[in-house]
Amino acid sequence: MSTSPKRPVHAAQTLFPVVDGCLQVGGIPLTRLAQRVGQTPFYAYDRALVTERVRHLRASLPAAIGLHYSIKANPMPALVQHLAGLVDGLDVASGGELTVALDTGKDPSHISFAGPGKSEAELTRAVAAGVHVHAESEREIRLLARIGDQLGMHPQLVLRINPDFELKGSGMRMGGGAKQFGIDAEEAPRMLALAAELGLTVLGFHIFSGSQSLKAEAIVEAQAQTIELALRLADACRDPVRVLNIGGGFGIPYFPGESALDLAPIGERLEQALPRVQSALPQARLNIELGRYLVGEAGVYVARVIDRKVSRGQVFLVTDGGLHHHLAASGNFGQVIRKNYPAAIGNRGGQEDIEVVSVVGPLCTPLDLLAEKMELPRAEPGDLVVVFQSGAYGLSASPGGFLSHPAALEVLV
Ligand SMILES: *Cc1c(COP(=O)(O)O)cnc(C)c1O
Repeated sequence: MSTSPKRPVHAAQTLFPVVDGCLQVGGIPLTRLAQRVGQTPFYAYDRALVTERVRHLRASLPAAIGLHYSIKANPMPALVQHLAGLVDGLDVASGGELTVALDTGKDPSHISFAGPGKSEAELTRAVAAGVHVHAESEREIRLLARIGDQLGMHPQLVLRINPDFELKGSGMRMGGGAKQFGIDAEEAPRMLALAAELGLTVLGFHIFSGSQSLKAEAIVEAQAQTIELALRLADACRDPVRVLNIGGGFGIPYFPGESALDLAPIGERLEQALPRVQSALPQARLNIELGRYLVGEAGVYVARVIDRKVSRGQVFLVTDGGLHHHLAASGNFGQVIRKNYPAAIGNRGGQEDIEVVSVVGPLCTPLDLLAEKMELPRAEPGDLVVVFQSGAYGLSASPGGFLSHPAALEVLV
């Protein structure tokens, strides 16, 4: 990391101090951490930053709002275990994630399983474990009733609703319009009647309208619409609403010009909305579900420079890491326009000698790009490239098998 005033420093970089030119993760100099891990590339997640993130959220939101972690953002078991002790619930989206969540020892009634296309085996395991199952279709409701009969157990059923609105400006649209997620809001009365007919109790609703928003006003508006929808749905529900998951969508700034989400207006508006929700739904546990906001900024991806090449005047640092470990940083995880994740040369902080380089991986495709024409301290083979904002949708969201290079390791420090 350079201290040159000419180069803008991404806020994420300030989370990791540089001491004597070396970036520190969890208080450990990166060069020493690389030795301890024993290989590059690796991901390192800073436990203290995750703890601080949860504390900041709790301080900004009403105490009555429960905090859930969406495991799909980062399913590393040690990290999930750390979070299990900090948040109120864990949200999973597959049988594999369910195993990780149950292994933390978290009370199953604070684990919820959403996601389209759940298999009969997954649903059976979820009912047997007593976790909340968020049904996304008529098939799942019917199957849950049958599984409940077979096991002699009451499925803990919550309806995942596809809202009739979306989180404006979100990086990923997951609600509103025609979607494979959830039950269309207008179909909810019919599904509630079906559940009743099948003898199932409906515990409540899960309404998720989008992801990766940096605009507090957009989140405030979506939450207000979500609460209105939930109150309408509750009117059609014969069972008292015990669970209301109002989604999340809190984003983190990845690119130049983006700034951190302001939690203050979100907290204020939720505080104002609470009395009405609490009087209409006195038994309801109100939750938000967050993935990247909890872990994204706490993680770095570290790769080693293998080669330094100049092609027709352009400098390339070829590293041992790339899109096979970090698809999102390469710009190929659903991004429309490729932009650089913030990056640094971890062992050359403060170096005055700066150059414009492209950092690439070892794969035989031009898509394997970690940084394009970025100003970085002049680096040599052996140096450590650090990609920030890498704690979410990193290793588990990357095509690790592509080109058969070694896997990346993950450490929680
Ligand atoms: C992926 C997902 C999340 C987490 O999204 P983030 O952007 O990581 O916060 C939350 N809820 C549902 C239903 C999801 O599918």
